[in-house]
Amino acid sequence: MAAYMIGTDIGTTSTKCVLYDLKGHVIAHADKGYPLYQDVPDMAEEDPEDIFNAVIDVLGQVIRKVKVKPEEIKGVSFSSAMHSLILMDENDEPLTRAITWADNRAAKYSEELKANGLGAEIYAKTGTPIHPMAPLSKMLWLKNEQPDLFKKAKKFIDLKTYVFFKLFGVYQMEYSIASATGMFNIFELKWEPQVLDLLDITTDRLPELVAPTDTIDHINDSYGKLLGIAQTTPFVFGASDGVLSNLGVNAIDPGVVAVTIGTSGAVRVVVDKPMVDPNGRLFCYALTKDKWVVGGPVNNGGIVFRWVRDQLFAPEKITAEQMQVSSYDILTQIAEKIPAGSDGLLFQPYLGGERAPIWNAYARGSFFGLTRQHTRAHMVRSALEGIVYNLYVVMLMIEGIAGKPKRIQATGGFARSALWRQMLADIFEQDVTIPESFESSCLGAATLGLYALGYIDELSEVKNMIGVTEVHHPNAENFEVYRELLPIWLRLSRTLEPEYKAIAEFQKKHTNPNK
Ligand code: ADP
Repeated sequence: MAAYMIGTDIGTTSTKCVLYDLKGHVIAHADKGYPLYQDVPDMAEEDPEDIFNAVIDVLGQVIRKVKVKPEEIKGVSFSSAMHSLILMDENDEPLTRAITWADNRAAKYSEELKANGLGAEIYAKTGTPIHPMAPLSKMLWLKNEQPDLFKKAKKFIDLKTYVFFKLFGVYQMEYSIASATGMFNIFELKWEPQVLDLLDITTDRLPELVAPTDTIDHINDSYGKLLGIAQTTPFVFGASDGVLSNLGVNAIDPGVVAVTIGTSGAVRVVVDKPMVDPNGRLFCYALTKDKWVVGGPVNNGGIVFRWVRDQLFAPEKITAEQMQVSSYDILTQIAEKIPAGSDGLLFQPYLGGERAPIWNAYARGSFFGLTRQHTRAHMVRSALEGIVYNLYVVMLMIEGIAGKPKRIQATGGFARSALWRQMLADIFEQDVTIPESFESSCLGAATLGLYALGYIDELSEVKNMIGVTEVHHPNAENFEVYRELLPIWLRLSRTLEPEYKAIAEFQKKHTNPNK
């Protein structure tokens, strides 16, 4: 009899679903997108019903595609985006849309927490950096600015809890999503009393806590029939997309660091106990009860390369489109002609403020060191280098608490460029491996599911489920150049810091929003 495990990833822009056999081979996949509501500045919301419908839709699609029989589905496991918040009313109906991580309306409250010192105390227990992304800040914002709504809320939940509630009728949240709320004590695995006091709520208004490997069955009858899923099929609560992506790219063993450069970026490593950064700049989120992921999220990843392409290389972009080749490939070929270090042109990539490593929403980008000899080609290379320097600083912080890295597993759109991959190896002075894994968070969810249900003994068995496309070794000559430039780049960050707020405020005041 065939046997399958399903991994579903509830993402910010779409839900993806992959049906695997028990060896981790992809048998079928589906995805479904939904809108992000941005009615007012800084808002980023989703309709929980859209998300739930998308989950049902993609599960139905993969099951139908392969004509899977109910008894052949051994489990369904979940990944989801972190930090979402939904308020539920007395009748278990949503009082709000899902307020996502990208929503910045709580900024005033996270700044207050940082300024009054309470933020540092709370971070030291929760491992969630104090930031508007976190449900803690969002709840403070709602409590102060919409007190009636806040009072009316019977439960404060997240998107994955909502989906499980619709399927199973209980409010349960696993440790991984809980550890990204800013309200969960990662050392004691419980809701943090200091935060409950601050919000003036009791635990009965939060979901019951369960482990990522815990399971639940007896799916709501009508959804079970609709999908062809048996009442006995276990659903694994799973974890958050960030930590599961580490698992899905086989960055699970000690010292193996996952670097992602997609639109944004991240550096993460798995450790075997919760750890926090003395300066509150890194997150620590649960993967399982005894595996934790320490890392930093970076706003300025590939989106900066996109800006370089659109603003500095518009003609090349048009030519590439006419030739039907990737405009990024054309730009990389241009950058390749410039030596490592861009002849001393440095770039600070903070075009969209920054989270890790500097956690400064006012940060802005800059080129430094320009001479008449520098060309557009230098600018593109130094932009790519600047993105990697910034990630390297996050790596240094991680190294400070979790030890030296042994190897880098790198993923994201940037991996299509051999030049950029090599740059990562050279600046980090580490071997960089590009794992071949499709939808890494779905694979992470499915692997966690296989582990939870006893089909594999160790999470590291994921290594048999992915391939390797490329390995890059550091080039000593390039590394020497980067080693000379890095201290200047770092000092520059510190030198510019006091001016970020002034220039950002000027921009806010003088930018015509209707332009
Ligand atoms: P997302 O993070 O939104 O899922 P991707 O992982 O696909 O997106 O990353 C998109 C980014 O990858 C782009 O902004 C760009 O910087 C980079 N990218 C895409 N194609 C290439 C390429 N051929 N060479 C270098 N970088 C690329």
